[in-house]
Amino acid sequence: MSRAALTDAVAAVQDYVRYLQRLGVTDLPVTLAPPVRASTPAPPVLPSASAASIQVSSTPTEPTVRLAQLAAAVRDCRNCRLHARRTQVVFGTGDPTATLVFVGEAPGHDEDVQGEPFVGQAGQLLTRIIAAIGLTREQVYMLNVVKCRPPQNRNPQPDEVAACRPILQEQLACLQPRVICALGALAAQTLLQTEEKISRLRGRFHMLGAIQVMPTYHPAFLLRNPQYKRAVWEDMQRIQAVLGLR
Ligand code: URA
Repeated sequence: MSRAALTDAVAAVQDYVRYLQRLGVTDLPVTLAPPVRASTPAPPVLPSASAASIQVSSTPTEPTVRLAQLAAAVRDCRNCRLHARRTQVVFGTGDPTATLVFVGEAPGHDEDVQGEPFVGQAGQLLTRIIAAIGLTREQVYMLNVVKCRPPQNRNPQPDEVAACRPILQEQLACLQPRVICALGALAAQTLLQTEEKISRLRGRFHMLGAIQVMPTYHPAFLLRNPQYKRAVWEDMQRIQAVLGLR
């Protein structure tokens, strides 16, 4: 390895350790892992509700690879009760290098069956909203705060949100989008760590580190309350302007 590559590798590890420190991790049980090869599945980086059990590969890896490793690592997650009745973990989908990420609440029935966020009725509306700002589903990334379907589509409970939080944080650390559109109160409040109402949060950007977060109404809410579509369109235009899409 050249000196420059070594310096880059050290800097990447330092960045990652600083990120883990921000998560509150104080002890790192470092697993020495072989370099990632396309043919060999990488060792899992398994986040859990207990920060102390986060495993850190000693090899700095590309964010896209880390995201794939994370998806594999959480496929059998049992960090909360939702694992018992889910069909599968709904990790996220789209372009891992996207500048715009949509964060929803939790998978519903269709998402649980298909393993992809926002594929049901609300998802179809979201797809049309994304098209209205000149993008496709494939050009953005979509994920949920909670990765497993709550029974009867009830609201996720605080301990379920807390159990999923390390996965969400690691996903965002890998994705590093310029803008997050937080869909609905749970997504906005979880990301911004506030109890403020969505009606007061929406309509302006909030900073999450270097990421600009635009909270707006959830598409499922819009299906029941179409009079709020104008407000969502205004929020989407703000995102469009920031990303230079118009
Ligand atoms: N609602 C969400 O918040 N997420 C989905 O994936 C589907 C519906």
